[in-house]
Amino acid sequence: QRKTVVVVGAGPAGLTLGNILRAASVDCVVLEAESREFIEQRPRAGVLEEWAVRGLERRGLAGHLLERAQRHTQCEFRFAGERYRLSYAELTGQHHWIYPQPLLVTDLVREYADVRGGDIRFGVRDVELHDLDTDRPSVSYTCPESGERHVVLGEFVAGCDGARGVTRTALPPERVRVARHDYGIGWLALLAEAPPSSDCVVFGIHPRGFAGHMARSPEVTRYYLQCPPGDDPENWSHERVWAELRERLGARDTPPLTEGRLIEKRVLDMHGYVVEPMAFGRLFLAGDAAHLTAPIAAKGMNLALHDAFLLGDALTAYLTKGDTGGLDGYSADCLARVWDYQEFSQWLSDVYHGTASGDAYHAGTTLARLRRLFTSPAAASAFVEQYLGTDPGL
Ligand code: FAD
Repeated sequence: QRKTVVVVGAGPAGLTLGNILRAASVDCVVLEAESREFIEQRPRAGVLEEWAVRGLERRGLAGHLLERAQRHTQCEFRFAGERYRLSYAELTGQHHWIYPQPLLVTDLVREYADVRGGDIRFGVRDVELHDLDTDRPSVSYTCPESGERHVVLGEFVAGCDGARGVTRTALPPERVRVARHDYGIGWLALLAEAPPSSDCVVFGIHPRGFAGHMARSPEVTRYYLQCPPGDDPENWSHERVWAELRERLGARDTPPLTEGRLIEKRVLDMHGYVVEPMAFGRLFLAGDAAHLTAPIAAKGMNLALHDAFLLGDALTAYLTKGDTGGLDGYSADCLARVWDYQEFSQWLSDVYHGTASGDAYHAGTTLARLRRLFTSPAAASAFVEQYLGTDPGL
């Protein structure tokens, strides 16, 4: 079977790319290892940057999002027993958009498969890539129904299969560099069946460890608690979780947290990697397949969309007009933002985890950084620019 572009992975990157290609009438297929039900329910991210929302809107992919997402205008830091609000919308006119990743994925699958008539195959197994350094690459997989091997011949392969995918491993080791960073810190990621306890994102910087509060919907709230890397979620009973959240998010004049049943509880080890370059021959990587940013700064889904916009536009320009500029510059254009966001995540990690480091010097400089955000307009502006992400005009 022949398709112009074979997209591996139906996450935010692969589905956005598929939609852009379908809108340009490029023949493509999306191959996904999981079922449709599974990907439409997998809880993960929830914070979208304004430029990413506008990029989706420009491509006709933000209809539901614009109707249903919450728009946040400020965030709050709690440290040394006090609370401090940063009104980023006042400074920039930009917002953070809160829209759970499963809703975005559901919207993108519907648009791709049900509206734009795109070909998507779920439950594929043992995906393998072939002949990437020729102009006739192909992808083979085992069909879940028949158990038979299928081969799709293409002109391009897009590796959008996330951090645990296989496409990255098809890059010859001597042609790529993988830069890794391990923060040596764990976060217990929680979803609580409880309404948000604040109208904005709250960061608790506490000697017992970081704690975060992020609205997901009127009924569900995401919380994070810093913990040892590799910790067992079973060490965190309902009572212990809420006691730690109360302690670490506590500050003068704060309303009590609204507690609820914990519907997700897992430990994430904070680490990141960047694959350079993000392309080899006719294979182009996008999203977590190429770079992982620890969820410290809520950047991963935004970067996945940034890559998908660039790759979708570049492939379309090449396939419809023979313009090679976008594809030639793809990797470098993505990586500039990827490294910018990695650097911000590293900076923010120091702030979040500094007072719990056990090092009095680190704790002191962390508190100085935090106080500077609320005493120096220049420091606040610099922070907000990175927190919201600059507009790439995509
Ligand atoms: P994925 O979403 O991982 O999609 C990859 C797809 O490929 C999956 O559907 C997978 O099933 C499929 N796949 C994997 N292997 C194969 C294979 N061999 N063959 C075929 N298909 C395959 N980011 C933000 O921007 N903001 C946030 O607030 C935020 N919060 C987060 C909170 C948590 C707890 C976590 C874990 C992540 C968070 N992120 C956040 C990161 C964000 O979820 C990811 O960066 C984003 O999902 C990346 O999208 P993607 O399309 O590149 O990869």
